[in-house]
Amino acid sequence: MTVKHKDCNSELIPEDLEAYTGYMDTYRDCIICKSRENRLWAKYGSYKAVKCNKCNFIWINPSLNEAGLNRYYQDYIGMRFKDEIKTRQRKLQYQIDKDFLQVYISSGKVLDVGCSGGFFLNVLSNNFDKYGVELDAKAVEYAKKKYSFGKNIFNLNLQDTKFPKGFFDLIIMRGVIEHLFDPLVVLKKVQGLLRKGGLFFICATPNVDSFCAKLYRQKWNQFHPIRHLFYFSLSSLSRLCSQFNLNLITKDFPYLETPYADIHRDHYEVLKAYELKNDGHFDKINRSPAFWGNMMSLVFKRD
Ligand SMILES: [Zn+2]
Repeated sequence: MTVKHKDCNSELIPEDLEAYTGYMDTYRDCIICKSRENRLWAKYGSYKAVKCNKCNFIWINPSLNEAGLNRYYQDYIGMRFKDEIKTRQRKLQYQIDKDFLQVYISSGKVLDVGCSGGFFLNVLSNNFDKYGVELDAKAVEYAKKKYSFGKNIFNLNLQDTKFPKGFFDLIIMRGVIEHLFDPLVVLKKVQGLLRKGGLFFICATPNVDSFCAKLYRQKWNQFHPIRHLFYFSLSSLSRLCSQFNLNLITKDFPYLETPYADIHRDHYEVLKAYELKNDGHFDKINRSPAFWGNMMSLVFKRD
């Protein structure tokens, strides 16, 4: 089911990130262990990622402030629709993520946080009672027109919603938690909105403990200093979620079965990059391909 990419290995981030440097003034301590000590891990233009000296967590520091992020996400859905190949790949990936999730839960009230145009909600079983929140007004408008559950899609921050406590059986963040300005505030809200025994599904989230993240750093295909503010791993995310009574029950690192995998090309690219880096030619390395361990699907249970 491989969809051929257009030369995705050679492209670095194809956007003008320097247009946003005026908004880059949010400094953070480590959100996992609160340590204030960190060191440089990666650099991309004037953007920097740092690594915590105590727990090894990685994040963009400084990152854009909220005004900068709001400007960047103004027309996120339009930006994403432009790339037809990625849109097709994402559709195939939705099915894989759904199949993984629905082994654990296949009915009840579900909330998709950062649901975009409702695409992932749409592939979930119709036994679910579907809700979503999304900051991109155009995406919300699209979902409202297109789907019957569109009436339950709200153009709000999760923190500003008024759902009753324990209202949901399942809360989903698909490729979302690494984008959040303040993941702790949002996780606190998730804890309150999930019923006891309810599930929290995080998927399509990059894994910074992967071989490619370590080898490629700022050339890792998941490194994006505006979109991805935090670089989680299985251990940092489990540690963070457990502070909100969300405990890991299962995990997966999808690669081979995904529409992004091209096994021969990917291994050839990674081997070439490994050799170039060892020979001191990091500048000649292309952006990383899809690879083992890059992405995580995790299910947590609200205890
Ligand atoms: Zn730390």
